[in-house]
Amino acid sequence: MSKKNIYADHAATTPVSKSAQQAMKLYLENEYGNPSALYTLARSPKRALKEARKQIATVIGASPEEIYFTSGGTEADNWAIKGMAFRFAGQKKKIITSSIEHHAVLNSCQFLEKMGFDIVYLPVDSNGLISADSLKKELDDNTILVSVMLANNEIGTIEQIQALTEITRKYKIPFHTDAVQAVGHIPVNVNVLGVDMLSASAHKFGASKGTGFLYKRKGLELEPLMNGGNQEFGWRAGTENVAGVVGMSVALEESMEKMRETESHLAALINRFKSGVKALGIDCIYNGAEERIPGSISVSFREAEGEMLLHRLDLKGISVSTGAACNSDSTEISHVLKAIKVPKEYINGTLRFSFGSENTLEEVDFIVASLFEILG
Ligand code: PLP
Repeated sequence: MSKKNIYADHAATTPVSKSAQQAMKLYLENEYGNPSALYTLARSPKRALKEARKQIATVIGASPEEIYFTSGGTEADNWAIKGMAFRFAGQKKKIITSSIEHHAVLNSCQFLEKMGFDIVYLPVDSNGLISADSLKKELDDNTILVSVMLANNEIGTIEQIQALTEITRKYKIPFHTDAVQAVGHIPVNVNVLGVDMLSASAHKFGASKGTGFLYKRKGLELEPLMNGGNQEFGWRAGTENVAGVVGMSVALEESMEKMRETESHLAALINRFKSGVKALGIDCIYNGAEERIPGSISVSFREAEGEMLLHRLDLKGISVSTGAACNSDSTEISHVLKAIKVPKEYINGTLRFSFGSENTLEEVDFIVASLFEILG
């Protein structure tokens, strides 16, 4: 088989869409003024930020003043969690999260644990789902925040966030969701979900890296994480990445417009993958819940070694990931796969395939045939 160039790691990052590139160009080339400045050159970038804030807010059912631009999903997660905790510094308060969060959340929680906070990591079932009952049992007067992701980055499972926020709202406990893998891929509305904070990242839905946002419900008090100038309504200091933000809003609108069409294309790719694997008798199991992020599939191959598979596929020009991309330099078995208890004869051979709209059925066939050849 000849070498190809097949990118199947969209959950790690996505190519920047043509329209996002086009929209960003203006703010890189001509309209480069600092949006906080007072002269004429600042007007267009200032207007662009305002417009983008409005567009993004509309997509997720928020008000523009509830959207704060950040340097990406990691910063948004850190801010939501540490920003809430820092209001209660020295008080040994409790934060509840899940055992399958992204490291941006997990490591923020571990940092707070060292500072004396009580962190509870909710267990998940074999599909990666968190039960409302397990959350209910942990809530008490000492709890200051619950943070549970909307969609998992390794296995794609979509959590039942509404069932969880129904409970936290009764106790008036703020709820944060890491929606980095969900925004731009499935409909996300902060009011339907009932969340108080939500993190998103532009490079996961066709815009550039280093840009994202935190949605923070009006009236919710949070300590700033970035101290400095008065940008972002005085809550997040630092000159905004105007081109990045413009690209993010254009890419988000585009993803929303094409969501249905993309979803059915991705479903066809996943079906093709599964039927190909079945036809060739490849011994594997699929991880995650029925309700998953479109186009993303975590597969554990029996008695295989994920990293070896990844490199052999790479030699054929196929880019995939072993579990979490942010962890790809680590050979440790992922905390997510351990939490869902993937059987031991399969867990080491886990790969995540995450397709995008530009992938084709022929590419999927090539991936399956390559897997068959490599696995012998
Ligand atoms: N949260 C989740 C669920 C992610 O998948 C990622 C990135 O992989 C992040 C947070 C971090 O986002 P960023 O790369 O924008 O910092």
